Amino acid sequence: VDQPAIRPSRHRLRVVAVGDISASMRRVTVSAPTLTDLELAPAQDVGLVFADPAGREIRRRYTIRLVDRRAQTLSLEGILHGHGPGAAWFANVSPGAEIEAIGPRGKVALSEANWHLLAGDESALPAFAELMCIAPPGRPLIACVEVDGPEHEVDLGARAGQQIHWVHRNGADRGGSALLAAAIDGIAAPTGRGHVVLLGESRSVVTLRGVVSRIGIDGSQVFLKGYWNRTPGR
Ligand SMILES: Cc1cc2nc3c(=O)[nH]c(=O)nc-3n(C[C@H](O)[C@H](O)[C@H](O)COP(=O)(O)OP(=O)(O)OC[C@H]3O[C@@H](n4cnc5c(N)ncnc54)[C@H](O)[C@@H]3O)c2cc1C
Repeated sequence: VDQPAIRPSRHRLRVVAVGDISASMRRVTVSAPTLTDLELAPAQDVGLVFADPAGREIRRRYTIRLVDRRAQTLSLEGILHGHGPGAAWFANVSPGAEIEAIGPRGKVALSEANWHLLAGDESALPAFAELMCIAPPGRPLIACVEVDGPEHEVDLGARAGQQIHWVHRNGADRGGSALLAAAIDGIAAPTGRGHVVLLGESRSVVTLRGVVSRIGIDGSQVFLKGYWNRTPGR
């Protein structure tokens, strides 16, 4: 999928609805007419603009979901992981709030292939949902997603030919690669040329690139992006 050549710009978002879609993920729907008027590619993102204690601007990136051009709204889905300005905003936001965002950004996409593998942690769920929605009908797609337990799973809108393998941490630390590596090792790869998207903790996705090579996928057929950085000792 070719990305439109739209340069990121600043947009004012106004919150119109807030709701939980799992035990740890909150969907915030915003009115964003200057964004929904643009040609947005699936799974692009925006940087929400916050300020640090010294008043300096800091940004946190969230995937654009469920664009409704007629209503001029889109949704952002944030993990309530308990630390940082992004998670705090999702934990406390209510309708009527406003926030600035910079976007659209991002290049995650499905390349031409006979089948797709999407693997990552809960930060990747919004992007995976968007990619599953645009995947060609009937083309095999396997998603391996690590979350803490069943109550943290979200509806990814899987269609015929799309399988989801939920991998449960059961209280283990977030951001490791071992559980997803075992899940990837265990998939029955469909025939033909596969394409892989790896999104999640930065070091973990690099490790997982090595794992997908073991199931016969060439590095040129892997898109990987670190979505967050684990803090040592947390
Ligand atoms: C292109 C792109 C799209 C993204 N889309 C989404 C999205 O749609 N929804 C979403 O929730 N996230 C998404 N992310 C990830 C999100 O930007 C990061 O998780 C970001 O660090 C959150 O900022 P924060 O202020 O909550 O925490 P930070 O201030 O960045 O970090 C504070 C602490 O929290 C820890 N932490 C940060 N993120 C996580 C996490 N996901 N799980 C556990 N611990 C964490 C850090 O290790 C650190 O110790 C995306 C990232 C990118 C690059």
